Amino acid sequence: MGLLEGKRAVIFGVANERSIAWAIAKTLHKEGARCALTYATERLKERVETLAHSLNSEIVLPCDVTSDEQINSTFSAIKDKWQTMDILIHSVAFAKKEELKGKLLDTTREGFQIAMDVSVYSLIALSRQAFPLMENTGSIITLTYYGSQKVVPNYNVMGVAKAGLEAVVRYLAEDMGPRGVRINAISAGPVKTLAAMGISGFGEILKRVEERAPLRRNITQEDVAGVALFLASPLSEGVTGEVIYVDAGYNIMGL
Ligand code: NAP
Repeated sequence: MGLLEGKRAVIFGVANERSIAWAIAKTLHKEGARCALTYATERLKERVETLAHSLNSEIVLPCDVTSDEQINSTFSAIKDKWQTMDILIHSVAFAKKEELKGKLLDTTREGFQIAMDVSVYSLIALSRQAFPLMENTGSIITLTYYGSQKVVPNYNVMGVAKAGLEAVVRYLAEDMGPRGVRINAISAGPVKTLAAMGISGFGEILKRVEERAPLRRNITQEDVAGVALFLASPLSEGVTGEVIYVDAGYNIMGL
């Protein structure tokens, strides 16, 4: 029997086969969870539906996380179909390409607002809807990056957003903990995905990690999915409000 037999997971952030959310969805499914997938835009509909089909997902819904209306209709569809849910995966972030190069000094008000809305506020908005559907226990997992803690060239406004996201995790852990609902972040090392390719000089970051990380390699989407499985399962019942690094150890190095 799988670790997540009988559990229901709602997953935000599958864009294609390289998405971290897709590796997580496959792993949760393998351990017995039923997975509902959402997609951000009509452009992704067909691709995400095909992926969802391969996991026998009975729920595939459009949800742009900047729209309260779409968030409401997504969760009311989940409630109609499942009544309750156990796991929420938030694997969503966005900043305009021009904000992910050069200096933070040049960040525009609009660019800042977009990055914070999609990448940070969305976790609050989705958690608020998921919380009442989680009975007694529940696990919410989001994805962050080390650029929240230290300066990573070009990461700029997204570093600020990830710092905010990690603070949101701690505050929501306190809000939801008394009813047994947990929330944690996984701080993933760099992985070549669609979102990552928008960061200027991303190839250099990959090279640096491979040279310097204690494990002398980059991580894979599957490395992240393994820790997501741990956080989604009863194995981590005493863990909430944490940021767990899956980065081949890179963050422990001083030089
Ligand atoms: P990805 O495959 O491009 O996933 C990002 C997802 O966010 C996409 O599905 C994207 O949809 C979605 N998204 C963007 N704007 C949205 C909106 N308004 N509403 C709903 N969804 C929206 O890249 P990924 O690397 O797997 O990213 C997943 C998470 O991991 C992100 O939070 C990212 O910051 C984090 N992370 C990534 C790395 C890395 O190196 N790859 C490292 C650490 C943390 P569209 O494609 O339609 O925009």
